[in-house]
Parts: sequence; structure tokens; C-alpha cells
Amino acid sequence: MKKLKTRKTHTCCRCKRSIPIGAIAVLDGPPVYTTNMYYHLRCYYGREASKLRFNRFVMKCPHPEKMRVTVWTYIPGECVKEPDHDECRICGRYI
Ligand SMILES: [Zn+2]
Ligand SMILES: [Zn+2]
Repeated sequence: MKKLKTRKTHTCCRCKRSIPIGAIAVLDGPPVYTTNMYYHLRCYYGREASKLRFNRFVMKCPHPEKMRVTVWTYIPGECVKEPDHDECRICGRYI
């Protein structure tokens, strides 16, 4: 995460609006991408907050019945599948 003053207009990756010249933008994203990801300062912190909120939600995920999927695995040595365990599609944890 890097804060910088923009010298040309960029498009904010979160709200898709342009960041005006001279405004403080936040440069973020994995270095493997050749295109830089710019955010408004506000949008960046909003994104972080929503990430945090999501993580907190996942921590106490209620595993709703309709979001569960049964994972089927092969019985060793046979070509038959059997239901192995249930997985929650929200938090990805085994139930
Ligand atoms: Zn924005
Ligand atoms: Zn869950």
C-alpha cells in the first residue's frame, strides 16, 4: 500500500470514478500485475473495513442450511463415491 499524489487521472478500482490530478491516491495490489490499482483514499479504507467486517462475519459464520454443500469423495480402491463431509460455502469450513 502506497499513498501518492496523482500526476494524471486514474480510475478508482472500487467506485470506478476517476481520481483527479493532485488528489491523494492509494496504490495497491500484488506486484505481479502490470497494471497498478489505484483507489481513492476513502475507497481504500472502505475496502479494508469491509474486508475486516467480512472476516469477522466468517469467524462467527452460522453455516446456514442452504449454503451447505456435501462433498463427495471416492472410497479408496473403489469407483464409488460416498458423501464425505459437509462444507459451508460462505466460510469454507467443514461441518
Ligand atoms: Zn473511489
Ligand atoms: Zn460457515
